[in-house]
Amino acid sequence: MISSSLSGESKVSMSQAFRSTRVLTPHGLAPATLCVEGERIAAVRAWADAPANAELTDFGDLVVLPGLVDTHVHINEPGRTDWEGFETATRAAAAGGVTTLVDMPLNCVPETVDVEALEAKRAAAAGKTWVDWAAWGGVVRGNAGKLKWLGRAGVPGFKCFLIHSGIDGFAWVNEADLRAALEQLRGTGLPLLAHAEVAGPVDAATGQLNREGADWRKYSTYLASRPDEAELEAIALLLRLAEEYRHPIHIVHLSSAKALPMIREARERGLPVTVETCAHYLRFSAEEIADGATECKCAPPIRSAENREELWLALKDDTIDMVTTDHSPCPPEMKRHEEGRWDLAWGGVASLGLALPAVWTGMHQRGVSIERIGKWMAAAPAELAGFKRRKGALAAGADADFVVFDPDSEWSVEENDLHFRHKISPYLGAKMRGRMRETWLRGQRVFRAGEFIGTPSGRELVRV
Ligand SMILES: [Zn+2]
Repeated sequence: MISSSLSGESKVSMSQAFRSTRVLTPHGLAPATLCVEGERIAAVRAWADAPANAELTDFGDLVVLPGLVDTHVHINEPGRTDWEGFETATRAAAAGGVTTLVDMPLNCVPETVDVEALEAKRAAAAGKTWVDWAAWGGVVRGNAGKLKWLGRAGVPGFKCFLIHSGIDGFAWVNEADLRAALEQLRGTGLPLLAHAEVAGPVDAATGQLNREGADWRKYSTYLASRPDEAELEAIALLLRLAEEYRHPIHIVHLSSAKALPMIREARERGLPVTVETCAHYLRFSAEEIADGATECKCAPPIRSAENREELWLALKDDTIDMVTTDHSPCPPEMKRHEEGRWDLAWGGVASLGLALPAVWTGMHQRGVSIERIGKWMAAAPAELAGFKRRKGALAAGADADFVVFDPDSEWSVEENDLHFRHKISPYLGAKMRGRMRETWLRGQRVFRAGEFIGTPSGRELVRV
């Protein structure tokens, strides 16, 4: 990297320019110069056309991507900060090129199901975040009357579970509860995000496995306990409601490729449905998960290699809109590594900061252009959360959030590379292609080559 300036890293200059031979804008990957005034991109110009009065940083041939947007992160603060917290989670985000994240409403205490809880979260986050953030509100049994107030207080949308969430204070919802919530959300434009598994098939499969005396150390037992049918039944219900209410519904962490035909059909009919999958469903497969390796436990589960390839195809043909992490850590003892029992271990994959190289590695293996990262990991999640005018693209008027990425560097993940609280992840030891070099948030460098720069300067993004 060549920089015309060796000082002033932590303060925003009035006029800056950043160029590379490979900048990803909405028009594709090409040589370009980003002209930045204060915190925003003022213009995107030709590579050779940097303004004479701007402080110029030249990134050579490194790829400059829009700052990533991860709309599925469990931060757990306030209340379970020993699991994860704003400081550690947003450090991990910054190190991984995620400049905007949206927190899930269930693992914190209080759960984000009313305005008071949202205010408690804001107080907990103040001064601790290395990147910009927002908080999804929660839809739980009985809180339909509070949703409008949460929306007015600034949440960008709502998350619900159609099956037990693992958190007793975050009650799952049935069709009647969903209808009550959708009545309240009508006209707000705020999306309803749903964990799409229903209990019936999971309870039936689990009961059968227990009657047969199945070995819960085996991954195959856990996989059999969360059958595709649980996802299919939930998604069928959500598609029906999207059609009836014409309200935006978002399916989080799709795992079962068997749901793709009905999703394709719904989208062809123009239903307001969006879909995400997660980096771990694209990276790992059931065949390679060792018995007892509970760091890979998540719900819905990681399925077969054949299923994984169908998810890739669905991303490529735009049936799946985006890729998130679903970063959901817990204290190490809750993974119950000594017993290795999948039924007793806490579910959730810790991965914040690793999604870009993980997904890019898979894209490279499958011959997919790096340009697709822009939609999958920045533009589409930014649109879901209602932030697309400011986040998710390198374009005039947007915040100057960007990532400098070396797509050809090969490396293996070590504990030093994990910046979240507990150094547990299925990615430990994983071989990666593509390495983060720098992360810039609103015109300021916040991360470079393993080092955090300045102090936490992230802000809450409010949708009003
Ligand atoms: Zn989640």
